[in-house]
Amino acid sequence: MWHWCPLAPGGHEVTVDLQALLSCTKCELAKNRQRVVVGSGPSSPALLVVGEAPGKTEDEGGEPFIGRSGKLLFQLIEEEVGITRQQCFVTNIAKCRPPNNRPPKPAECEACRPWLLDQLESLSPKAVLTVGNTATRQLFNVSEGISEIHGQSFELNGVRGIATYHPAAGLRSPNTVIPMIREDLRKLRSYVGN
Ligand code: URA
Repeated sequence: MWHWCPLAPGGHEVTVDLQALLSCTKCELAKNRQRVVVGSGPSSPALLVVGEAPGKTEDEGGEPFIGRSGKLLFQLIEEEVGITRQQCFVTNIAKCRPPNNRPPKPAECEACRPWLLDQLESLSPKAVLTVGNTATRQLFNVSEGISEIHGQSFELNGVRGIATYHPAAGLRSPNTVIPMIREDLRKLRSYVGN
């Protein structure tokens, strides 16, 4: 289940054309998807969370981060930032599932990026969090890997953001990665006003 509010706070029309997004064929990923996973959350979120791409569970369920990595991510956000998933708008840099869960290609992210920028503009979150290499490189336009730039502050169209490791890396290497994710997330507290 996803929900998307077609009116921004204050009642003005948002710039995201939901029908166009749901029928998007701007890249190859359109061929094999079950659905376009737009994102879910309130229309005025504390935080915009941006992952890589839907996996199998998300392609079937229609909502981002509904598997194990999402559970970990939102537990850590709740503990370190002090906000719940219900206060976050959750989406991905690529809105359609890549075959065999490969990372989305740069051209696919590029084709999808305008949808995310429209979401950023219409939602006006207090802050942005990217998780993992793909979302961070594509959204903040950097070439470094996540191990070099996690925890750094970025600005995107007037909104402050930080990058951290993908929660799937936290599931693979909990002892080393989860403490770093926690430390990065703590920086978001002041950005969201906590
Ligand atoms: N991993 C992601 O990056 N996004 C999802 O929606 C699910 C898993």
